[in-house]
Amino acid sequence: MGNGKLIVFSAPSGSGKTTIVQHLLKQTNLPLEFSISATSRAPRGEEIEGKDYYYLSANDFKLKIQNDEFLEYEEVYADNFYGTLKSEVNRIWEKGKAVIFDIDVVGGLNIEEQFPEETLSIFVQPPNLEELERRLRGRGTESEEKIKMRLDKSTTELEFAPKFDAIITNDNLEIAKQEAFQLISKFLKK
Ligand code: 5GP
Repeated sequence: MGNGKLIVFSAPSGSGKTTIVQHLLKQTNLPLEFSISATSRAPRGEEIEGKDYYYLSANDFKLKIQNDEFLEYEEVYADNFYGTLKSEVNRIWEKGKAVIFDIDVVGGLNIEEQFPEETLSIFVQPPNLEELERRLRGRGTESEEKIKMRLDKSTTELEFAPKFDAIITNDNLEIAKQEAFQLISKFLKK
C-alpha cells in the first residue's frame, strides 16, 4: 500500500515537525519509513550516523552531486549541505513502504514537483513566531548566532505554507499528531 508513495513534512525548525514525524513512525498500522538525509554538517547532541543523517564531508557531498546521486539537495546554511539520496528512496520503496521526509520547505516542494502524483506534502505551522523562538531556545543545543540564523530562515519558510497539500497548525501537539495520522491514512489508501 505504501509502495511508490512519498510523504513530505516541512516546517520551520522548532515547529514540532520532528516530534510529529517520530510519532507517525511508531504507528505499526502505517507502512512508513524515514528517509535519512545526507548532510555535511557535524552531528549534534545525541545524533547517530545512519539513523538521523548520513554524515559526509563537504567534499564527499560535492562528489555525489557531480555523480547525480541526489534526488534533491540544497546548501541550507553556508557550507552546510543537505540532500536526499536516490538510493535512500529506492531502499524504502523496495521494502514496499512509503517514504516519509523531514526536510526543509524548498527540498520538500522540489520532491513534490518531481513526483506530483505520488507525493503528499504537509506543512507544520507553529502557532506564532514568539512560540517558535521559545522552542528553539528551549532545545539548549545551539549558539545564539545559530538560533538567529534559524529564526530568519523560519520567517521566510512560513510564506511557503500555501504551496503545500495540507497545513497542520501545531498549537496542540496531540491534535496535530492525530491530524497528521488521518491525512496519511487517507493518502495511503488511495
Ligand atoms: P538540522 O540541521 O536542524 O538537522 O536541519 C536543518 C534544515 O535542513 C532543516 O530545515 C531540515 O529540514 C533540512 N533538511 C534536512 N534534510 C534535508 C534534505 O535531505 N534536503 C533538504 N533540502 N533539506 C533538508
